[in-house]
Amino acid sequence: MNSSAFTVCPGCGVKLPDRNLGPAERYNAAGECLEAYYDLTCWTLVQQDAGFVHQHAVDAYAAQHVGERMRPITAVFALIGLYLAVERGYTGREVQLAHMKIARRRRDWPRLEPPEGRGDLTVMDILLAATDAEKEEALMRWTAAVWEAWEDRHRWVRETTKRVLYGVG
Ligand SMILES: [Zn+2]
Repeated sequence: MNSSAFTVCPGCGVKLPDRNLGPAERYNAAGECLEAYYDLTCWTLVQQDAGFVHQHAVDAYAAQHVGERMRPITAVFALIGLYLAVERGYTGREVQLAHMKIARRRRDWPRLEPPEGRGDLTVMDILLAATDAEKEEALMRWTAAVWEAWEDRHRWVRETTKRVLYGVG
């Protein structure tokens, strides 16, 4: 098989069989990567778990695929979601409620420049995990890795979240 049979996602760097899907519309992603993400959401959405892990998948995927075609609010909300999940232990459900609260309070968001590296894990690491428990564990490692990749923005995200969510500062 030659190298042209594969496409490399510009966001996460995953290498997938090229199906000529072209770039995704609102993410800095290969269409093939976006399809894999949709496969992942098929799994997260049937979990019916009280914690709602689906939210972590939404935020990790968006933060890993920030680009010019993404709305600024999508990137900011993804990072706030990752911060609340990774550093404050919020469940997906709690992140979802925080997003709703923040959306009511502020509407204008800056456009964030993505970091050079986006973490070592991709959607495929979750999809290839064998059991539901292993998938969930991989999902949380992916969430943490993407948050880590945005290190330069951690301070801004923490302070912004404190201000708009808790009314501090
Ligand atoms: Zn990707």
